[in-house]
Amino acid sequence: MDAVKEPLCDSFGRKITYLRVSVTDRCNHRCTYCAPLGENHKTRAEILSFDEIARVVGRMAERGITKVRLTGGEPLVRKNVVELVGMLSGIKGIEDLSMTTNASLLSRFARALKENGLKRLNISLDTLKEDVFRSVSGGGELRPVLEGIEAAIREGLVPIKLNCVLLRGINEDELADIIDYASERDMTVRFIELMPMSDGLDWKNHFVSIEDILKREDIRKRVDVYAPPEKDRMAAYSLPLKSGKGKAGFISPMSNRFCHACNRMRLTSDGKLRSCLPADMDVDLRPALRPAGDDSELISLITKAVAIKPEMGVYTFTGEGRERSMIHIGG
Ligand code: SAM
Repeated sequence: MDAVKEPLCDSFGRKITYLRVSVTDRCNHRCTYCAPLGENHKTRAEILSFDEIARVVGRMAERGITKVRLTGGEPLVRKNVVELVGMLSGIKGIEDLSMTTNASLLSRFARALKENGLKRLNISLDTLKEDVFRSVSGGGELRPVLEGIEAAIREGLVPIKLNCVLLRGINEDELADIIDYASERDMTVRFIELMPMSDGLDWKNHFVSIEDILKREDIRKRVDVYAPPEKDRMAAYSLPLKSGKGKAGFISPMSNRFCHACNRMRLTSDGKLRSCLPADMDVDLRPALRPAGDDSELISLITKAVAIKPEMGVYTFTGEGRERSMIHIGG
């Protein structure tokens, strides 16, 4: 029988069950709110290998991690990422393996992802207008993204959640259309408040709160808006659509902090285990991975990273950029 191992628990009693793994800090899009103005990628040698990622996930799964989401950068630009999906889906204890992607390469990979054990996808979609898409994504094309979504549906990588970052003056006028698009495909669209994570977009001028969105007539025409009970008023909640198909989710990392319920850690592509999205506090796991040290050193670094998880994360943004923008941390 396996020895029972202490579950990962931070110093405020929060149980850690969810790990986001950034497999690369590179992306084929340059979304203004996510990527910094200058390029500063990690070198190939700095990035964790698949074996190293699997080792970290394995040790954390033994300590109670059940949910893993692959992200980036864009996870599908990492060479052979499908192989990593296969490795992680075979790890005992991992019940929910998913990916966040911009979907631009999904038509090519959807089947292999499914075959290798990926359960479901979150897909970024901020706009349905080609010109707006090009400008928000730094030159990306909308058509392959929409084709990627259809491929994911065909392959059964469901339920699909669309991530739509609310951007004042950019996509505010399209939210109802995006709800209709999601509803027609029985998907959930999640509207996300803009976080000040990159110097590529002026946060103050583009922030819109979820509260403001929920007051809008075009949204209320489509969404069964009600105030969720206190206990459910966390970062994210989903409301049914009046059409009867699909849902709308609302994520308010800025206006309604939910740190008390945070159960997640993030592994950056260069091996830093980060306990809080806005707090620049992380523990470098590479000393225990290179050369492959013994597991006790790795476990002690993991425990240390969990122990320093702050009670609350505070966003500080000077407008001068951050050492780690979202593209580097993994959203
Ligand atoms: N490349 C993939 C993609 O586009 O979905 C995965 C990585 S991306 C960093 C993950 C998610 O983070 C996306 O859904 C994106 O919209 C969200 N994101 C990035 N920067 C953000 C910000 N400043 N505020 C809110 N959400 C952000």
